[in-house]
Amino acid sequence: MYLKSIEIHGFKSFADKIKLDFKYGITGIVGPNGSGKSNVSDAVRWVLGEQSARQLRGASMQDVIFAGTEIRKPMGYAYVTITMDNTDHVLAADYDEVSVTRRVYRSGESDYLINGNPVRLRDINELFYDTGIGQDGYSIIGQGRIDQILSGKPEERRELFDEACGIVKYRKRKDTAAKKLESEKANLLRLTDILSEVEGRVGPLEKQAENAKIYLEKKEELKKLDINIFLAESERYESLLEENAGKYDNLMNDIDGVQRELNESHQKYTEAGEKIEELDIKIEDMRKEISDTTLKRGQIDSQIRVLTEQINSLTSSTNHFKKRSNEIQESLDSHDKELIKLNENKADIDKKIEELSGKGSGKSEELDAYDKKIEEA
Ligand code: ATP
Repeated sequence: MYLKSIEIHGFKSFADKIKLDFKYGITGIVGPNGSGKSNVSDAVRWVLGEQSARQLRGASMQDVIFAGTEIRKPMGYAYVTITMDNTDHVLAADYDEVSVTRRVYRSGESDYLINGNPVRLRDINELFYDTGIGQDGYSIIGQGRIDQILSGKPEERRELFDEACGIVKYRKRKDTAAKKLESEKANLLRLTDILSEVEGRVGPLEKQAENAKIYLEKKEELKKLDINIFLAESERYESLLEENAGKYDNLMNDIDGVQRELNESHQKYTEAGEKIEELDIKIEDMRKEISDTTLKRGQIDSQIRVLTEQINSLTSSTNHFKKRSNEIQESLDSHDKELIKLNENKADIDKKIEELSGKGSGKSEELDAYDKKIEEA
């Protein structure tokens, strides 16, 4: 198993995408100070899951993304892939080549991939246990790290030797098992507490269990009795059912008859409804006619009243005129009588005038007087 290639894009000073291929043997990267040699080993450290910005010689994790230069804009993400040759299957993977990728965006979003499939950081750590390549491995030793290792605490040095001996995997497993054991111990303690608490309740629970047993026996007895009752009832209901079947048929026939009658009644009802509607229309017409006739009658009544009034007035005028005519006739009769009398008087007078004219014209004044009287009459 060996490092086959590194692909870097947007990581630290590598704005352009580069791919470094490593063949068998020793590869050296040379260049002037500050040209980015250490950035290559930082890229490897980072892709293996380094979480400390300080270890990557930065202040924050965002510092690994290309920050831009005077002539180049900053990048939005950093991307590193290392590809391991695994033909000897040192890595616990079925593939002859294993690539590990890490990507981070300025927004903080990040992901890990093994052979292009998204994985957790833990999966990458487990993949490299005991290969010397992990985060704490000895395969990446930075500037000044040898001094630090030699002068460091024995425990820190032990990490390195454990990794080299290939026992880190077992130590991690041991740690996990120890943690599990701790948690199981705590569970056991809790169970012991519960057990001692439960023990105090055993007596009453035994009594309850006895009661429950009696209850179950009684319940079983009740169940049997219920079944017997059910069977007896069932027989009774069966005979009732047979009896009722005949009644049911008769009732069904009756229902058919009633249904037929109902249909006929319904038909009649519909016809009656239609007739009622026709009659309603006629009644409405007649009502209209009656109202017209009533109106006309009112008009004629008022005409009759006017005419009666006129007749009464004419009758009273006729009576008045009759009375007046009678009065005038009576007056005429009386005048005729008076005229006759006056004519008789005149004749007498004429006679007397003749007598008197004979007697003398001296009597002319007397004559004039009589003439005057005649005129007045
Ligand atoms: P030395 O030999 O002195 O150790 P080196 O060749 O190892 O140097 P590095 O330390 O790998 O060089 O690279 C340092 C360079 O990387 C500096 O020029 C620095 O400006 C550049 N650099 C680091 N981080 C970024 C970043 N985020 N964006 C752009 N350039 C960066």
